[in-house]
Amino acid sequence: MDIFACAGCGAVLTAPVSRIALPVHARQAYGHELLPALMEPGTYAVDPEPSGPPWRPWSEIGVDEAEARGVFAPVTSLSFGAPGAVVVAPGDTRGTVLIPERCDGYCMGPDGRDGPNLACARCGQEVATRIDDCSYWQAVWLAPHAVVRRPADGPAHGTDDGETPAEEWQGTPPVEPSGAWSLRWEAAAGAALAHLLAASGGAPVAVPDGLAANIFGRALDALLPPGPPVRRAALAGPGLPATDPAPDITLVPRHPRTGKAWQPPGHTEPVPLDAGVWTYLAFPRERLPVPVTGGLPDGVLRDDPPPMRPQELFRPDRRVFLHTLARLPTVRQPWLREIYDRVTGRPYARLF
Ligand SMILES: [Zn+2]
Repeated sequence: MDIFACAGCGAVLTAPVSRIALPVHARQAYGHELLPALMEPGTYAVDPEPSGPPWRPWSEIGVDEAEARGVFAPVTSLSFGAPGAVVVAPGDTRGTVLIPERCDGYCMGPDGRDGPNLACARCGQEVATRIDDCSYWQAVWLAPHAVVRRPADGPAHGTDDGETPAEEWQGTPPVEPSGAWSLRWEAAAGAALAHLLAASGGAPVAVPDGLAANIFGRALDALLPPGPPVRRAALAGPGLPATDPAPDITLVPRHPRTGKAWQPPGHTEPVPLDAGVWTYLAFPRERLPVPVTGGLPDGVLRDDPPPMRPQELFRPDRRVFLHTLARLPTVRQPWLREIYDRVTGRPYARLF
């Protein structure tokens, strides 16, 4: 467990929090509504990339400079702020005050466009950016040089040692109670689709039937050439038996705490998937909200309405897809760059 404190005066700025991997939906922007908190209570994550102003347009950034930053295809602009911003749930912040003249946003609240909008309540130094506008997951991003991390007493989030075994990972349901597709699934699928394309070598790929085919199938059909599958992708990871013959590409979980992709045996190409999505795909069991025993007596008919279902086909998140693909070195290969340019160049088209 850690807490974060003001680098200027030492005032405590967060509750005790445990580090987990940066959620894949941190890069997501969706629709015209307020989204939930990005981080679970009691957790934090670190963005390894620079964030915040100054921003520089692509035309001012050379290919070499971009590649040194881990970006291998043109993007609109890149932040040249400091790397290492720390994100926490808004409810886990302590002792901060809004900076009123920095609270501009697009529509429903502050979106951080003017830089940090939260100050330390004790000394007044700018310390963080509160995101509270439509389209974005609710979050407080602590500025890297404005805070210091200190160890805190107490158990890590969820377990004593922060190592939850894979059998206990929580699956994320693909459909919200409202009947909409899960935004987390759309973001996770966007990131995984980029890796899946890179692993395809530009040839048609077969994915497992069922939910995985619903999630990836149409996008792969739209972006890869037609024809019978040349490579086969399958789920692999902790708790799953090895398949024979081994697939060419494996859909593996990213560890929820470290973010590291599970390493498949052999020489198959791993495609990392959000652990919650992977767990649901690997072990698709309905989870009851409360434990129950027994069943309904004979002759009792239920008239509960069936669960809500999506009205639209599933679409991987385009923004997360492009963000991820631009950061894969394979995108420098002409066939994959052509796909990147095709999706980038038609921002309003539903390519998949
Ligand atoms: Zn301070």
